[in-house]
Amino acid sequence: MRMTLLLAASAAALLAACSPTKPAAVETPKAAAIGAFGVDLTNADTAVKPGDDFFKYANGKWLATFQMPADKARYGSFDALGDKSEADVKSIIDGFATTAPAAGTNVAKAADFYASWMDEAALETRGIEPLKPYLDTINAINTKADLLKVVATVGYASPFGLGIEADTADPTRYAVWGAQGGLGMPDREYYLGKTESQVKYRAAYKAYVTKIFELLGDPAPAASADTVIKFETEVAKGHWKQEELRVTDKAFKAMDAAGFKKLVPNIDLDKFATDAGLPALANMVAYGDTSITAGAKLVDSQSIAAWKKYLTFHIASDNATFLTKAFDDASFEFFNKTLSGVSAKRDRWKRGVQLLDGNIGEALGEAYAAKFFPPENKAKMEALVGNLHTALESRIKGLTWMDEPTRAEALKKLANFEVRVGYPNKWRDYSAMQVDKAKLFENVMAARTFEWKRQVAQLGGPVDREEWDMNAQTVNASYNPLMNQITFPAGILQPPFFDVNADPAVNYGAIGAVIGHEIGHGFDDQGSAFDDKGVQRDWWTAETKAKFVAAADVLNKQYDSYCPFPDQCIIGKLTTGENIGDLGGVIMAYTAYQESLGGKEAPVITVDGVDYTGDQRFFLSWAQVWRAMAREDRARQLLTLDPHSPPEYRVNGVMPNVDAWYDAFGVKEGDKMYLPPEKRVRIW
Ligand SMILES: [Zn+2]
Repeated sequence: MRMTLLLAASAAALLAACSPTKPAAVETPKAAAIGAFGVDLTNADTAVKPGDDFFKYANGKWLATFQMPADKARYGSFDALGDKSEADVKSIIDGFATTAPAAGTNVAKAADFYASWMDEAALETRGIEPLKPYLDTINAINTKADLLKVVATVGYASPFGLGIEADTADPTRYAVWGAQGGLGMPDREYYLGKTESQVKYRAAYKAYVTKIFELLGDPAPAASADTVIKFETEVAKGHWKQEELRVTDKAFKAMDAAGFKKLVPNIDLDKFATDAGLPALANMVAYGDTSITAGAKLVDSQSIAAWKKYLTFHIASDNATFLTKAFDDASFEFFNKTLSGVSAKRDRWKRGVQLLDGNIGEALGEAYAAKFFPPENKAKMEALVGNLHTALESRIKGLTWMDEPTRAEALKKLANFEVRVGYPNKWRDYSAMQVDKAKLFENVMAARTFEWKRQVAQLGGPVDREEWDMNAQTVNASYNPLMNQITFPAGILQPPFFDVNADPAVNYGAIGAVIGHEIGHGFDDQGSAFDDKGVQRDWWTAETKAKFVAAADVLNKQYDSYCPFPDQCIIGKLTTGENIGDLGGVIMAYTAYQESLGGKEAPVITVDGVDYTGDQRFFLSWAQVWRAMAREDRARQLLTLDPHSPPEYRVNGVMPNVDAWYDAFGVKEGDKMYLPPEKRVRIW
């Protein structure tokens, strides 16, 4: 369980389309890597009044002129940096051509994995042969016991599943978690929703599922597709909504195996666990308990024949990109084109880098960190985090809505935060993973099996706090409430987020607010339900909790009122944690920036005859990191699924609540974003 800065796995590419350039920067105190002082003003639209639309004021020229790359569903500062990270990783892979890694090493496995991806001719030659053992296993299912055995096995789809993660009741140990799953489309709303776009997606899904059955040689592909969609619609009905899964005390329930068995009375859970390779079940966590019950019920309510169609479709569809071009094209048409609006496939090497990131990422992370992450970045970043930490401490001490018992707990939690910067202290050993240069599909399955066995082996032992769930090369940041840890991979510690040479106002407005955002997750709607040790425990007094919830509700209503499409608005309850993180993060970073000035006025920097104060540069920097645009289908998908508000609102939703922003840009009553002081939300 973790909260991130942005939805993972969206870092798609177009090399150097927006890559940072070194400026002349005459007036700058030091050379910042973007624009004259760290903010790229050539992309601002100063004709827009900052108080009317701050996002557009900061990014308007870019928004008006940038051409969305054909292979992208979304593009912005994050993606530009993602492109750079991808190219950096590629340069490591390219190095293998001249200096082959020693056989058996992690990098040698990564090189072979990559080679198996790039060999498209081999994929065509093999056709659906790699699927055969899986299809045979599915076809041999005759009984409920057979079915459960298959569903428990790594690689097969299931409406419910087991995983391993720290225990919410005692995060020093692991628990076996149960959760919902098993849909082909991104979320239950795609099956059950009534909007025009959802109806359109369902029609396209029918065509896609039919196509997969055609490619598999199914004698009645359209009928098989109907069976699968009917099945998945039943799965969807049992699923919880994304915003329901956020309500911590309802969504996360720690229990023993006997308690969990009551959730799935129609299943022999011990047998299921054994089939999954697990030892005897002990402590467990139900994540969305009734969805697990609903998923298990399908074992009895759906026919074996329907299950077989469902499993067959998923083994092919979930792995379509590791099969022939025909499968890959079908998958692209539906998932990328229809659901995300993308018009061209990404270059194969970029997809290859992404594949390695997801399956053997630390093998390259080690080389990436050594080559691209200077030690001075780590030291500077740790100092910045320390300043943000101090800023929040002083803010918590001054919060008027918080009573003393809660304040003492909050300060204890803050004191116990662990910060991780750049890359892990120890690297994963992939020696047990089987990789064959000629067998892509098998490599992917081997990676999944390796990962599952690795996790199973951890059960019973103490939780490994050194483990990372992002790679060093990843452009993201995260907070894990069970570990009370914040993590900043090397990938994000670059301009425009962070630059050792940048104007401090810019670093504080970008990575500073990102740090604040992550710290803020420790105190958002979910994080606030976990204590300083990561135990899920209510450490609030009822009175203070009520004030916190009331303030969050006001913020939720603000975001509910932002509607990117006439028929689709932001869901305040879904995005509440991220919105609290953004608001708190910006305020914390602003406080830290002011404290860093030590009572002195920040220098004014003049660009093209216009003076920019430190405060102005701070807020412009935040607006710059969220510079982004998205295709409509992708934007709609994210509104349904993503706990983060769209980039525009990560700027325009936050600013109206920040007093210093009004002063910095002279925002007054009558400006479109103006909120009277009594309507501004202040939480942290
Ligand atoms: Zn976040």
